[in-house]
This record gives sequence, structure tokens and C-alpha cells, in this order.
Amino acid sequence: MRYCSKCLMPDTRPGITFADGVCAPCINYSKQMTTDWNRRRKELAEICDKYRGCNGNSYDCAIAISGGKDSHFQVYVMKELMKMNPILLAVGNIDWTETGRRNLENISDVFNCDVIALNPNWHVTRIMAKKAFMKLGSPTWYADALIYAYPYRMAMKLGLKLLVYGENVNYMYGGKYNKETPSAMLQPLNDVVKPIDFNIWCEDGDLTPKDLESARQPDIKECETFGLESIYISYFMPWDSYHNYEVAKRWGFKHLGHEYAREGTIEQFNQIDSIGYLLNQYLKYPKYGHASATEMASRWIRVGLKTRDEMIPYVKQYDKNLDQGIVDTFRSFTGMPVREFWQVMDKWYNRELFEQDRDGVWHEKFEVGVGLMKK
Ligand SMILES: [Zn+2]
Repeated sequence: MRYCSKCLMPDTRPGITFADGVCAPCINYSKQMTTDWNRRRKELAEICDKYRGCNGNSYDCAIAISGGKDSHFQVYVMKELMKMNPILLAVGNIDWTETGRRNLENISDVFNCDVIALNPNWHVTRIMAKKAFMKLGSPTWYADALIYAYPYRMAMKLGLKLLVYGENVNYMYGGKYNKETPSAMLQPLNDVVKPIDFNIWCEDGDLTPKDLESARQPDIKECETFGLESIYISYFMPWDSYHNYEVAKRWGFKHLGHEYAREGTIEQFNQIDSIGYLLNQYLKYPKYGHASATEMASRWIRVGLKTRDEMIPYVKQYDKNLDQGIVDTFRSFTGMPVREFWQVMDKWYNRELFEQDRDGVWHEKFEVGVGLMKK
């Protein structure tokens, strides 16, 4: 395990690459300094000109949103700056925070946009949350597959040829598809939703492929035949999640701090619409030795808000905390007994990074910012 010399991202993150001790997300972020943003913004304006009014007075494009700070920024860019008339496509949560629900309402109100939200089938989501936790260590696999598949499907159903996404996750934060492209057509192939044959989920006989059909990604050929163009805003505008938060606040976005104090994060404005969903994010800690605090600290270091030395104590303190609300929400939704929950958790600890004491408690074998401790 080695850490980026600029930020606090370790090389255990799947798909991440390093060059001369620096992680690809840091290298890619620094490219923003020399990018010709005026030219890129013009390119976005040209794309918008192509689609504006293409459906008469109806929608010009679709934007995939969650209702969070980045969603506010995306809609701000498309509606306020580009003067498009977008339809917003969302996938609902199983457990909502009040703040998250209000933010989704706010985005519709303040930007004057319709929202179509898919409310996932609870029965299937419940079975899949438990199964994906046990088999894959990714309890939100199904929810994430829906989040990826639904906007592509719905945009085409509505006859809309332009679908807008926020940031290119693999390029910005590290992962397999690490190329900077305006097109989001390859997005469904990134590391967020592992490609799993649906038949594997149906092996136990409690689900059929038909139950999972909504989460099936339309293939690229199908999208191309339809003429769907899918883009990342992060290609056309500088992308900085803290800046997006500041912009979102000016349009009525609210952070979670007054409703709920999360135990494992160093901020209260990222991924705040659901508590149970965060189990997925937390599981990166036992698997790879880093979770939400590492991710946010690294972003802040990259944009110059904080230094690497300043953030090390925060990452040490917060990444290891599994929020009690996450455990409660997940267990009450899936009906999983507490001992079974911990047996599954234990399975996902990487033995190279952690050791378990005789009472079952896990201890880090690494030092944040440094790497594996020498024996
Ligand atoms: Zn880095």
C-alpha cells in the first residue's frame, strides 16, 4: 500500500494509477489549470444549440440527478447558463433524509423544472441489498445499477437525444476508464457498478431476470442507433465539488448538519440524501483501507483548501467509524440479525491491511499517509 505524495489517496483504490508517486486524480485535476475553459464552454453551448427547441416547447434534454449539490450545479449550468429546458431524472432512495427530500424538491422549485423519479421496487431492493452485501460487499449494487441504467432508458423513452451527467467519476477520482472525454457513453462500464451476470443474482430462486430488468443498462449500440448523446458537464466546466456546494447554497441547497451528524464523514454536504446507502461507501474501508474521509480530504487537498498534513488526523479519526445509523437502517431494511451483519462485515476485511484481535475487533496495519507499518 502506498499513498499519493500530493493527496491521501492510496493505491488500493481499484483501477487507480500512479505516476512518479502521484495519483491520476491529482494529475488530472492539475490539468484543469491549463485547460482552455472558454473554448470548452463554447463547445457546450454549441451542443445545446443543436438540441434547444428540438421538441418544440417540450424538453430539450434530460439531466440525471440525485438532488444533491452537484445536481444543483448541473441544473444551474444547463438551465441558467445554457438556457435549456431540461427534464430531471432521479432514482428515489429507500430511506430518505428529510434534508435530501427537501433538496430534491428545491431543485425543481428553484430551477423551474419537472422531475421524473423512479421509486425502486422495495421487495427486489431488499433482497438485492442483502445479497449484494453478502456476495459482493457492495450492498447498493442494485440501487447503483438503477441509477446508471434509468436515465439512459428514460431519456430514450421520452425521445430526448441529449442526456447530461455531472462528473466523470473514473477520470476525476480514479478508476478504470481514466480518459477525459466529453461523452458519457462509456460511463456505465466504470467501476461503480461491477458487471455481474443477472443469472448469478437469480441462483437462489428468489429473483428472476425479469425482476432485475429495470437495472439492465441499454447497450451502447442501442443508444447509438437511437442517436442518444450523453455528456459530462465536468468536461466543459471546471469541476470542484466544494465550489459546486457553494453555488448550490446560493440556489437553496441545504446541508445535513442540522438534521443528522454523521460519524464517518468530515463534511455534511456530500451524499446526504440517504443514510443506509452509505454502507456501500463505508465498505471501502475494510476492503481498501480508505473511505469517505480519504476521498473528501483528497479532494480538498487537490483544490488547495487544506494541506495533506492538516488532513491526516481527520482521515485517521473518521474513516474507521461505521455510523450507527447506517447499521440500524441497513439491518431494519434487510431484516439481518446483528451477528450475521458482523459475520458478513468480517468477511470483507482485507487481511493485508487489517488484523483482528481475539475479541473480533479489527486494527489497522497501515498508517494513513505513509503505508503498511513495518513489523
Ligand atoms: Zn493524489
